[in-house]
Amino acid sequence: MTDTDTRTGDAVSGVEIVLDRVTKRYPDQAAPAVDEVSMTIPAGQIVVLVGPSGCGKTTTMRMINRLIEPSSGTVTIGGRDAATIDADELRRGIGYSIQQAGLFPHLTVARNIATVPGLLGWDRKRIAARTDEMLSLVGLDPGTYRDRYPRQLSGGQQQRVGVARALAADPPVLLMDEPFGAVDPITRALLQDELLRLQGELGKTIVFVTHDFGEAVKLGDRIAVLGDRSRILQYDTPAAILAAPADDTVAGFVGATPAIDRLGLAVLGDLDLDRGVTATPGTTPAELATALGAADRPWAVVLDDRHRPTRRVTAGELAHADSLTGLGTPIGVTLPADATLQDALAVLLTDRTASAVVLDTAGAYAGIVTVDTLIAHLAPTETAPA
Ligand code: ADP
Ligand code: MG
Repeated sequence: MTDTDTRTGDAVSGVEIVLDRVTKRYPDQAAPAVDEVSMTIPAGQIVVLVGPSGCGKTTTMRMINRLIEPSSGTVTIGGRDAATIDADELRRGIGYSIQQAGLFPHLTVARNIATVPGLLGWDRKRIAARTDEMLSLVGLDPGTYRDRYPRQLSGGQQQRVGVARALAADPPVLLMDEPFGAVDPITRALLQDELLRLQGELGKTIVFVTHDFGEAVKLGDRIAVLGDRSRILQYDTPAAILAAPADDTVAGFVGATPAIDRLGLAVLGDLDLDRGVTATPGTTPAELATALGAADRPWAVVLDDRHRPTRRVTAGELAHADSLTGLGTPIGVTLPADATLQDALAVLLTDRTASAVVLDTAGAYAGIVTVDTLIAHLAPTETAPA
């Protein structure tokens, strides 16, 4: 979506960022931490900087908002040389979100989010309205969360507040430094989905730092793979990097097995999902037992009248039952059809479950995914020679 005119609300579309031979030499360090990095970050895109720990990702990112001053080189933001902009003014125009959210522990959620609007001198009414709007935007109910303190939130909720705070003053540029590094894989996948949804609405220019190539593939419109001193080893779309890594270092980073990368590029909805055996509450236990037997399946999914999965019922549980109502066990972990296969595998492995139910965008039953389905997708062509 590049047509900014079709976006609604007061959202500002992002601006281009250009790094031109940007270098950082820390005092008393023989080699520069970042050495002559040049790159153009297109307006309205998510560019992910990915590379091993210590390669200079944070230093590079912080030179964009001048939390770190470059030793040499130029950063241009929306056509303006960042060095000529007052540093405080510059930072108020750039959202910044970091690992563990970086919230002020002694301020409520609302006051954390209001930090930059407050500095910008917005009046209280506008700040209060904006705070609630931001909470809703990141999926937190304002009434429940605005007066809480950060310690009263889960890690994932803190990250959401961190993103809300970064977005509060509607900056055209967002810098995110391993923002989801401290949360569990399931929450991370949710936050990534949320960020992509937000970006679909907002169209910011987002620079996102991670050391996780899978995260880079999922989030990036473009990925810059960085080596020592932030040297750019490859800067391209995820698909182009996966298809043709520039060198062995990039290939190593992309993953030992090229096939594994398909997991990050395909979503569950692309698969021919197993529909299993389903029933509705009106189905009799005997009918369902017959269906399970005919399909040679150990369990069935019971759907409600809107086709949403409610419970799993095993053949054994059917034996002495009069009706399906309340029978069986809750459906367990579900996955949206737009989850990548990589996320799905992570969820199945983390949850130690062999299968999960997949839901379509309306929340209706779409089928079942198993670890085996995903592993089959990993190496579909690797068949043993006769
Ligand atoms: P990354 O974010 O990729 O892990 P950093 O940008 O934090 O990398 O660090 C890059 C290099 O610069 C590392 O070798 C690190 O030790 C060094 N470095 C970072 N901050 C400082 C500092 N304030 N003073 C001296 N060296 C630093
Ligand atoms: Mg870092």
